[in-house]
Amino acid sequence: MEQNNKELLLSGLIKLEVPNAEQKADILAMYCDRVLEANGRFNLLGNVTEYDMVVKHILDSVSGHKLVGTGKKVLDIGTGAGFPGFPLAVCLPQSQFTLADATEKKIDFIRQTAQALGVNNITAVSGRAEEMAHGKMRESFDVCVSRAVAALNKLSEYCLPFIKCGGRLVAYKGPLVYDEVAEAEKAFSMLGGKLQGIHAVSVPYLEGDRFAAVIDKLKPTNPIYPRKNSNIIKRPL
Ligand code: SAH
Repeated sequence: MEQNNKELLLSGLIKLEVPNAEQKADILAMYCDRVLEANGRFNLLGNVTEYDMVVKHILDSVSGHKLVGTGKKVLDIGTGAGFPGFPLAVCLPQSQFTLADATEKKIDFIRQTAQALGVNNITAVSGRAEEMAHGKMRESFDVCVSRAVAALNKLSEYCLPFIKCGGRLVAYKGPLVYDEVAEAEKAFSMLGGKLQGIHAVSVPYLEGDRFAAVIDKLKPTNPIYPRKNSNIIKRPL
């Protein structure tokens, strides 16, 4: 990674109050290099510069670290190249992360990268959320995170079934968050959840507003959820 982008990354981690920022910047710079290299081989993120990788992907992912918290069991649904789960795992070494995606090759990439960089609090699993949520991962996570996967009325059906009572969903969102929440409040309650709040999140060096919608899991989710994906898409709760 170019020196100026490395400095930007380190400075962003410090602004976000990440402990041991220098050590984490070293690991995340290597992760960044690997994502960019893999992006050339199989398109993970579209056309991105190193600067965009640092600000829009790495720092944006890390911006939610305090809402996730330390010592948690965390699931990232639809992680793609590892966002936000991979940078969060590097910054929260006491939390255990499971990164899930429907596409096997993305999961292979994450597995190999975590191993190569010695990030040992990541497990990568391939599968569709609405299927895995009926298996052994159901109601077994303290926190679920997700970015750029679906609108909240659908995302909550993918994610809330995985969360233990007392846990939370932290959904990374842009300015449409208010409309999405308004459309999803009924879905939250049908799935055993309740909106805790919409947090404005500041991402260093990023123009534009970023938010985290936090949904608390209060009651077990009815086993009929999640439904088949076609129903989730056609008839969101
Ligand atoms: N979270 C990443 C990737 C977003 S792209 C980021 O912010 O950059 C959306 C990703 O979600 C894709 O990789 C896709 O394979 C995955 N995905 C979409 N629906 C899914 C589902 N129902 N179960 C698991 N993964 C899903």
